[in-house]
Amino acid sequence: MNKLSINTSININRERLQFNIEELGNIGLNESHGLDRITFSVDDLQARQWFINKIKELKLDYQIDAAANIWTSLPNTNEKAPIIIGSHLDTVPNGGRYDGALGVLIGLEILTTLLENGITTEHPIGLVSFTAEEPNPYNLSTFGSRVVTGKLKKSDIEHVQTKEGISLKTALASAGGSVDAIETAQKKPDELAAFLEVHIEQGKRLLNQSISTGIVTAITGIYREEITFKGEANHAGTTLMKERNDALVAASKFVVAFEEIVRNHPSDEVVGTIGQFSIKPGAPNIIPNEVNLLMEIRGDKAEKIKETLQQVENVFAELANHQPIKVNRTNILDQAPTEMDKRIIETFKDAVPPEDKYLLLGSMAGHDATHLASITKAGMLFVPSIDGKSHCPEEYSRIEDIEKVANVLLQSIFKLDNLLN
Ligand SMILES: [Zn+2]
Repeated sequence: MNKLSINTSININRERLQFNIEELGNIGLNESHGLDRITFSVDDLQARQWFINKIKELKLDYQIDAAANIWTSLPNTNEKAPIIIGSHLDTVPNGGRYDGALGVLIGLEILTTLLENGITTEHPIGLVSFTAEEPNPYNLSTFGSRVVTGKLKKSDIEHVQTKEGISLKTALASAGGSVDAIETAQKKPDELAAFLEVHIEQGKRLLNQSISTGIVTAITGIYREEITFKGEANHAGTTLMKERNDALVAASKFVVAFEEIVRNHPSDEVVGTIGQFSIKPGAPNIIPNEVNLLMEIRGDKAEKIKETLQQVENVFAELANHQPIKVNRTNILDQAPTEMDKRIIETFKDAVPPEDKYLLLGSMAGHDATHLASITKAGMLFVPSIDGKSHCPEEYSRIEDIEKVANVLLQSIFKLDNLLN
């Protein structure tokens, strides 16, 4: 019997995985049945300890790096760089049981499965739980993965503190990390063979098509602009309609036109939002002279974001034909979409059993894999989210789907172990 035929008969243990989802899902539980595992809170620290205890139960070694990321790996005497599975254990306030945790728990289940079947791979198989992936009181989301990929340096974080004055230095130390030594957590490209993350979809695309396995092709790019419309303030009673230059009217036309542009974009993975909007002077008897808003466009391809922006330009040109409005635009974020590794995408496809379907899709939220992709081959799998809900207590994924995706990941690891150098 060759190695591959032995491996393909192995599956993860669904009951054990479910048990772990439930057990970890009790840490940080609040009265509204949501989880409050906010970075470096007591509950976050408790979840981290839970994970360390699980690693100890497997009699594996673990390391906490200077970013307080928790790493473990199956014993392996080969000199090769490891294939790493990972995600995060922290949650947003009143978050759910699956966002982040699922990727770590599936990794834990895969390590356990490999161990109990006595399987040795060419590449060491490792697992990481990244610190502070979610937005947090330190304003440093995807903290752990950004440190590992060299995107956050000591100078960026040494003075960081919460609004209440708790320093990151103290908080990070409470989890076993160190701001002073932060750069020791950085990894070089040759220290990793691949990074694989399973995450809930946080949308309804898989669910709507009744498909269990989502294979991520790219992680969304995010473009944000602050836009100010300047008109003219005047008396709301005595200024005739034809004499007005109302900033709110121009901005409102823009909001409607913008929505139409993104709605009509042929790709579902282009979305746009105006999430902040303020009016000056903001009185019932004064024509608004200034509106300030934040426009965000997300897309899985840089060209798609660019196309959308081109259409936005046209709207401003059209507005100027109707009213002498002044528009100031400032780009405040331009994060390019991150393509997932082609070879890993192909491997995931091959690992889906022939009787099952998969869906290729872009991730419309950011993840740790976004950053890992800058130093290694990165790949992501999505599990359907029931009702598309996430970042709330209702967040839920079915164990049948989770089991399928975990087995796809397991088989992908066997394939990648042969494929990668
Ligand atoms: Zn997440």
